[in-house]
Amino acid sequence: ALKDNTVIVVFGASGDLAKKKTYPALFGLYRNGYLPKDVHIVGYARTKMDTEEYYKRITSYIKIPDNDPAVAAKLDEFKKLSSYVSGGYEDAESFINLRKHFEDIEKKYVTRDVNRIFYLALPPSVFIPVAKNIKENCYSTRGINRIIVEKPFGKDLESCRSLLGALKQSWKEDETYRIDHYLGKEMVKNLLVLRFGNVAMNAAWDRNSIDNVQITFKEPFGTEGRGGYFDEFGIIRDILQNHLLQVLSILTMERPVSFSAEDIRDEKVCSAVNVVKVLRAIPPIKFEDTLLGQYVAANGKPGYLDDDSVPKNSVCPTFAATVLWIKNPRWDGVPFILKAGKALNEAKVEIRVQFKDVTDGIFADISRNELVVRIQPSEAVYLKLNTKTPGYSFRAIPTEMDLTYHRRFTDSTIPEAYEVLILDALKGDHSNFVRDDELDVAWKIFTPILHWIDGETAPRPMPYPYGSRGPFELDAFIRRYGYKRSTSEYNWPVMNVS
Ligand code: NAP
Ligand code: NAP
Repeated sequence: ALKDNTVIVVFGASGDLAKKKTYPALFGLYRNGYLPKDVHIVGYARTKMDTEEYYKRITSYIKIPDNDPAVAAKLDEFKKLSSYVSGGYEDAESFINLRKHFEDIEKKYVTRDVNRIFYLALPPSVFIPVAKNIKENCYSTRGINRIIVEKPFGKDLESCRSLLGALKQSWKEDETYRIDHYLGKEMVKNLLVLRFGNVAMNAAWDRNSIDNVQITFKEPFGTEGRGGYFDEFGIIRDILQNHLLQVLSILTMERPVSFSAEDIRDEKVCSAVNVVKVLRAIPPIKFEDTLLGQYVAANGKPGYLDDDSVPKNSVCPTFAATVLWIKNPRWDGVPFILKAGKALNEAKVEIRVQFKDVTDGIFADISRNELVVRIQPSEAVYLKLNTKTPGYSFRAIPTEMDLTYHRRFTDSTIPEAYEVLILDALKGDHSNFVRDDELDVAWKIFTPILHWIDGETAPRPMPYPYGSRGPFELDAFIRRYGYKRSTSEYNWPVMNVS
């Protein structure tokens, strides 16, 4: 349940994440009545700014639909519950000063609990001193305390362990909420219902029916001047090791014990255990199962190495396709292809589950079934299947059963992932956050290949033109793991384009 009298503190309130995601999500929750009673929001960072400047920044990404006066009025109220404190990240005095600010806000609750939620929208270089300073100087002694942290959780297994270890000096696991915002996305949450709420789906969910799976992330833009940050991490750390692996784990884990409301506590514990269990069955990625790419200038757009903030001879991959194998009875032998890239031909994140061929003999050249879950944009689930060509012909033709959300659920709005996750953290629900043991196994899978890419014998990524589907070698790579594209007869009617 939500705790009344909560102060939410956003560290790094002057930054990019705070303005683009954190504050818009907090406002979304406030507007819909999901923030606790008597909530107060405190922004904190080193930048000195007056209240006007603070309001301007935190509202710069908040949209007021059709200039609706009711929403504008809500935004004014929201500003009034927000204040800003400027201070350092390393020194105790700054945090003592911050505590005085809390005490000022909280003095009206003398006889009640005061709860504090600390959200770290900060670069990882200051996670540890900030977490320690909060614990020592700003921890509420009469209420709950929770800390929300953002990726990156280290750069490999060793650095992850040392970061987690240092945070654990001050914060217990049950007070810590590690965000992977993919876990807050509607279609990722929907996977459990699609899988376990449908006998038809569940029955075909294994190596006997499924031939291969692709989980794809495509972005149509490059680093655009922010390559300095990206170059340290690369696409595997940025997207595959966290977001796509989280999706994979929910797609493949065994069934949690129960989803019923009374049993909800059990369900949480069980699904986390099952996620870790399936990840444990994945051996480290093999170098030969990986294809790396880097975009080059094309169609008037600059290449990755043309970004001034990127080292001139960088071999950092901006595209990667890699195959994971799950060594358990359900999935043995099924390739899970994770692929992600920047500067590609489109924006999409999807899961494509491709089923096996139908038994030979009856049909020649018939497409395979595919279940596609489009996570973004425009959420959809569609099952590609074959049907008789209408009319006198008896030929089979590939078509689809389609569930496009915005057409089927016209009255629903899908909340932003950050809204869902902040609300979960306010309620103390850990189910959509990343556990410490989960990170450990996730890094075990990826660390060898990352060290290879970072090391002396780093492979040179394959060049691909800005705006293309990726390196030329990609289609042959995917085919090698069994993927067969639908016959050219499959087409999506233009009038249906979403
Ligand atoms: P940011 O804008 O670079 O940093 C946030 C704030 O931290 C800055 O406004 C700055 O505030 C302070 N800061 C920056 N560099 C610092 C340094 N070297 N030492 C001390 N303080 C510094 O970062 P961000 O994009 O908001 O991201 C924050 C965290 O969220 C990061 O861990 C990032 O990986 C993660 N994240 C970001 C996004 C996104 O969309 N931006 C998405 C997912 C995860 P002051 O100078 O005012 O103190
Ligand atoms: P698709 O876009 O044809 O992609 C299917 C697979 O083939 C993907 O693995 C894709 O790789 C690959 N591919 C795409 N273009 C290729 C090319 N030129 N050569 C070789 N491989 C290629 O997807 P689809 O599911 O068959 O759907 C076709 C179109 O119909 C899409 O635009 C889809 O959005 C639309 N559709 C929409 C809905 C809906 O909105 N509800 C329902 C059904 C279909 P990459 O992923 O790497 O590109």
